[in-house]
Amino acid sequence: MCHIVYAEREREYKNMKVLVVNCGSSSLKYQVLNMKNESLLAKGLIERIGIDGSITHEKIGLDEKFVVKKPLKDHKEAIMLMLEALQDKQHGVISSMDELGAIGHRVVHAGEKYAMSVMISDDVLNVLEDCIELAPLHNPPNIMGIRACRELLPNTPMIAVFDTAFHQTMPAESYTYALPYEYYERYKIRRYGFHGTSHKYVAERAADMLGVNLMDLKIITCHLGNGASVTAIKRGKCIDTSMGFTPLEGLVMGTRSGDLDPSIVSYIRDKEGIHLHDVIDVLNKKSGVLGISGISSDFRDLEDAVEEGNERAALAIKVFAHKVRFYIGAYIAEMNGVDAIVFTAGLGENSAQMRGVICTELGNLGIKLDLVKNNVRGKERIISRDDSKVAILLIPTNEELMIARDTYRIAKKYKDTI
Ligand code: ADP
Repeated sequence: MCHIVYAEREREYKNMKVLVVNCGSSSLKYQVLNMKNESLLAKGLIERIGIDGSITHEKIGLDEKFVVKKPLKDHKEAIMLMLEALQDKQHGVISSMDELGAIGHRVVHAGEKYAMSVMISDDVLNVLEDCIELAPLHNPPNIMGIRACRELLPNTPMIAVFDTAFHQTMPAESYTYALPYEYYERYKIRRYGFHGTSHKYVAERAADMLGVNLMDLKIITCHLGNGASVTAIKRGKCIDTSMGFTPLEGLVMGTRSGDLDPSIVSYIRDKEGIHLHDVIDVLNKKSGVLGISGISSDFRDLEDAVEEGNERAALAIKVFAHKVRFYIGAYIAEMNGVDAIVFTAGLGENSAQMRGVICTELGNLGIKLDLVKNNVRGKERIISRDDSKVAILLIPTNEELMIARDTYRIAKKYKDTI
């Protein structure tokens, strides 16, 4: 009898379909994966929640997309629409909600509370509520998505996967700011780091691609998208990362300034006669390569402008690359060497030019890019020369797969205990 129950459970686990939900303030991205072979079954994007919502749902393998425009009052209505699309006769991938074995939610900030993914309970939700002041733009929609899913699917296990979790292994000397220590004790002001799921994924893939145990590697992962961060990973653990208390610190980004002298903040406030929060808004939304170039936050536009001789676009690209090189150098010093450098996310995956500028003249550090191999877009590939001491890799990130894996692992463990 017991054997039959276990065999039945094993079958259920192996065929488990996992829904991954990533809720933003007015958007919701989702994917359904079959964990038997980690294949993607469907993915979708719901936009303009609270305005004049729309869904674009794609069943993998079906040529046409399911596109509907519909008023969506809030995240609950968006999740209801997603569940309808998932059960649609033609475009759906489940026949009932019971087919969803578990749901994985991307959550941006877990403060110092969680160093790994967790099963969501009322207590976990309380912790996430407490973290709202650390991520006021991100955690509230993440929490809304979780609450709506719990209401609509009360019996489905739900797992939270945090952007900050992977970075919790940083030593105190990496995460401590040189401020009065009471601010850390009272307000938890410290470096947290973000994009953790992506850094972890590409580091693990890099070890697989190189055929070396992750525990034997020193890796620098460069997640270069609209938001960008660099992480130093030694023996599989994050030891430092460029984003800080918020995702504003570190590299120059599409619209974010990254590192700067803090005195500039009050100086701009006084010179421009604006409020402090407006200065922070400038640093978040009007700075970065957009601010320098005055053209765009998108590197495709900048590369086109450079072709036409635009000097500020050229400067923006140089400043961006300079900062990435700056962090690569710092992390080589911190780890006393590096075995692999990984490029990922929109820019890191697609721009051979940017990878070229970043890696130029690093030969004395043993870092030699192969210009022919580098001429590729969005594909896993080792792009360093054969005589390069340090491997350079291009690895498309897959945060959803990482979330689905954690969700599957934790849901399976949970089901085993009930
Ligand atoms: P995020 O998830 O942070 O919004 P992505 O990882 O999707 O960002 O990266 C988006 C950015 O990647 C775009 O703003 C653009 O600058 C850059 N990008 C995407 N494709 C290309 C390309 N072919 N060439 C250069 N840059 C690109």
